[in-house]
Formats: sequence, structure tokens, C-alpha cells
Amino acid sequence: MSNLMSLQAALNARATVPAGEAANAPGRRGCPLSDLRDRLRRAGLRPTRQRLSLGWLLFGRGDRHLTAEMLYDEAMRAKVPVSLATVYNTLHQFTEAGLLRQLALDGSKAYFDTNPSEHHHFFLEEEGQVLDMPDCGITVDSLPDAPEGMEIAGVEVIVRLRRRAASRNKA
Ligand SMILES: [Zn+2]
Repeated sequence: MSNLMSLQAALNARATVPAGEAANAPGRRGCPLSDLRDRLRRAGLRPTRQRLSLGWLLFGRGDRHLTAEMLYDEAMRAKVPVSLATVYNTLHQFTEAGLLRQLALDGSKAYFDTNPSEHHHFFLEEEGQVLDMPDCGITVDSLPDAPEGMEIAGVEVIVRLRRRAASRNKA
């Protein structure tokens, strides 16, 4: 019982912290929303309300990988009034503008990466989970010659994972 009480106390204490912390948070130095507006403009996209709302959800949480359905769920939870079709369109516009990178991981679902630079991934197929590989994770040093008249534009490696039987049974 006393453990429960102290957990409650800890949660309450934590709840009061962010207000004080927020003033010192790095995001507060510039205005994140106007940064996003600039970023969209620089990419050649008009910063509409929908693009700003979805961009806010997408880029506000660091590097991550998500499908249109995942972003749509987040938008619903954040009470952003968009349709799934708008989410798809926006993700494709962001990708064409170079703000996102589309990953070819799974034929049935498109994953989008908020870090558009070239990097490699782990893909946990059963759970549809995508992880960035550490920088030193892989070296690709013997590539075939590109066909006549072509050059290699990039190399992306996907290492497919599955949980070991023991940890699968535990879960
Ligand atoms: Zn990634």
C-alpha cells in the first residue's frame, strides 16, 4: 500500500515538473511551429493547416518510422481533423519534397522515415517494427557494376529480424 502511495506521489510530483522544465527545453529557443513552417517553405510546400498539423505530429518526436495508418491514428488521438486519404497524400508530398524517405520493407505497407538521409534498417517483420541500424552496423564494400548508362544512386540494407523462440514463448 505504501508503495502505491509513493508511486502516486511520484506521478504527482512529475506532473508538476514539465512547466518549469519547458522554459529550458531546447525547442523553446526558437518557435517549433515557425521552424516547421520555414522547413515546409524551403521544401517548396505551402504550409497549409493540414501540412502543419501532420508535420507537427511527424517531426516533433525525433527520428522514427511510420505508416500512413500509424500517423492517422496519432492524428485522431490529437483531434486533428484529417482523412486517411489526406494523410497518404501528405506523406507522399513530404516524400517528394525530400522531407521523408519511403522505405521498401514490406510490400503491403509503405513505411516512411522522418530521417531522409541514407541509412540502414532492422525490420522486425512479425511486429512491423523498424529500427535504425547503428552507423557502424554494416559495410557494403563490393557492389556490382551498374548496368550500362546507369550509376548507383544509393544502397539501403534491410536486415530482417525475428524474435528467438525462447523470447517469443515468454511474450
Ligand atoms: Zn530510419
